[in-house]
Amino acid sequence: WTVSHGWGGAENLSYIPGEVGASAIQNIGAYGVEVKDIIHEVKAVDVETCESRTFRNAECRYGYRSSIFKHDWKGRYIVTSVVYRLQKSPELHLDYGNLRASLLGDDISIADVRKAVIEIRRSKLPEPDEYGSAGSFFMNPVIPTEQYEKLKSSYPDMPHYVVDDMHVKVPAGWLIDRCGWKGKSFGGAAVYEKQCLVLINKNNAKPNDVVALAEMIRKSVSDTYGIVINPEVNYIE
Ligand SMILES: Cc1cc2nc3c(=O)[nH]c(=O)nc-3n(C[C@H](O)[C@H](O)[C@H](O)COP(=O)(O)OP(=O)(O)OC[C@H]3O[C@@H](n4cnc5c(N)ncnc54)[C@H](O)[C@@H]3O)c2cc1C
Repeated sequence: WTVSHGWGGAENLSYIPGEVGASAIQNIGAYGVEVKDIIHEVKAVDVETCESRTFRNAECRYGYRSSIFKHDWKGRYIVTSVVYRLQKSPELHLDYGNLRASLLGDDISIADVRKAVIEIRRSKLPEPDEYGSAGSFFMNPVIPTEQYEKLKSSYPDMPHYVVDDMHVKVPAGWLIDRCGWKGKSFGGAAVYEKQCLVLINKNNAKPNDVVALAEMIRKSVSDTYGIVINPEVNYIE
């Protein structure tokens, strides 16, 4: 809707399934943009007092796939609306993954970005009616730059994105792939062939199949690289 009305800012987040309320809880992100970049304020109801409260962006303490609603105030607020701040002539964010390579010419519109993002996502992620999944199962680990530099001498092709002067983010999918997990399964759960960051329900997976597979992957990445990867998904008992 925003792209079709010429409002830019959310185009890189195209095709992420989910509702507005969760976007503000999860700080959803893709292709170099996080929803925190366009959130102005979040309105929520306190489940203890039933009072409404408005949170300014800074009060939500956004981080990578994280917000205050997932930590200090977990379970305390129900988001009822989100105000996004969009722009008519936004700065385009194209330098993430293979986004720029899939866009031709200099005169690139937000509609072009949206189309490219959707095409890339369709080529890499399972459609929900094909295989059930939670999207990215693990968060991309953020590690000290010093640790990355040491690993780079053994693994020169390890990709990374600079987070700040002291930290880099390493794609968890790459780590999982290099540990040989592509297509491997446990029970009915499997590592998606086209994107190792995604665990799929391949054949009537039980919750324990998914958890066991995830734990085996975590251990193998930790044993190989000394990097701990953590689930992005919530486990509900
Ligand atoms: C195929 C696929 C691809 C995906 N790709 C991405 C991606 O690229 N980037 C990304 O960031 N995520 C991605 N995801 C994950 C998912 O889309 C997001 O986490 C999304 O925000 C989930 O939305 P939902 O409405 O289903 O929320 P749920 O999964 O139902 O909830 C997420 C969390 O938010 C809480 N919550 C939900 N609504 C509210 C509310 N109104 N008030 C308070 N708390 C609430 C829930 O309790 C839960 O803790 C992907 C998922 C799939 C299946």
